[in-house]
Amino acid sequence: GDMPAELWNRIKDHPCYSEEAHHYFARMHVAVAPACNIQCNYCNRKYDCANESRPGVVSEKLTPDQAFRKVVTVANEVPQLSVLGIAGPGDALYDWRKTKATFELVSREIPDIKLCISTNGLALPDHVDELVDMNIDHVTITINMIDPLIGTKIYPWIFYDHKRYTGLVASQILHERQMLGLEMLAERGILVKVNSVLIPGINDQHLIEVNAAVKARGAFLHNIMPLISDPAHGTHFGLTGQRGPKHAELMAVQEACSGGANLMRHCRQCRADAVGLLGEDRGQEFTLDQIPAEVA
Ligand code: SF4
Ligand code: SF4
Repeated sequence: GDMPAELWNRIKDHPCYSEEAHHYFARMHVAVAPACNIQCNYCNRKYDCANESRPGVVSEKLTPDQAFRKVVTVANEVPQLSVLGIAGPGDALYDWRKTKATFELVSREIPDIKLCISTNGLALPDHVDELVDMNIDHVTITINMIDPLIGTKIYPWIFYDHKRYTGLVASQILHERQMLGLEMLAERGILVKVNSVLIPGINDQHLIEVNAAVKARGAFLHNIMPLISDPAHGTHFGLTGQRGPKHAELMAVQEACSGGANLMRHCRQCRADAVGLLGEDRGQEFTLDQIPAEVA
């Protein structure tokens, strides 16, 4: 296409950033970061972060050392492995100590693996310099609103700067931090994918404005994902629960955004411990009891 060669080189083996790559290159997630600094109404803390994952899934939580052994084991058995991501099961940047330790161990052993993280963005501005230093080339921020009033229907509270905030001020802070983090990453040339969870009746039409806003701030890809409604999820939305969008509703919002930021249409909403090509999950072949105690 019209993409500059330098950019193409950075995405051509990342299955989430390049639709072509997703047939040939594999990613894995390791679930090392269970803590989270916000509450999303669609989240159930017993399960993986819904920002990037399927509801109702409990990933095997690992220490950085266990994650390191798992990554090396997978790299030896899955030759297409090109990307290591940390997508929770909480927030990779709030639980930064474990995220960072994992990346340091892995990149010492496998220097050419691409590192990526996903985050709700609240802690993002504090970590941009370290992300650059550590060569983390791909960051996903989940942005569900740019209007804090809409945010009040999605986020009951955040924990920021040692304090808990609720109501409008919580969403205002979250929104400002997300926009600042996105701008800082774009300025430093880190590729940013924005995930938005489409929540019918809450942010469906609003996502068109989100699309324009994140594009204007330099997001490379926008991934509009359906809320996957599950009885165990979304209970905070009210007694009746919150339904997910119908396929046609998702398509309509994606269609309305097609002049804006590049849309990702092949996201599989993987588990926080997914392994393999997109659309396949070999995670169960690499549970802790199956990986060696010593790998390097
Ligand atoms: Fe749950 Fe993820 Fe939201 Fe945190 S950011 S509350 S882990 S869905
Ligand atoms: Fe890629 Fe979507 Fe899976 Fe994340 S959840 S690894 S963006 S396909």
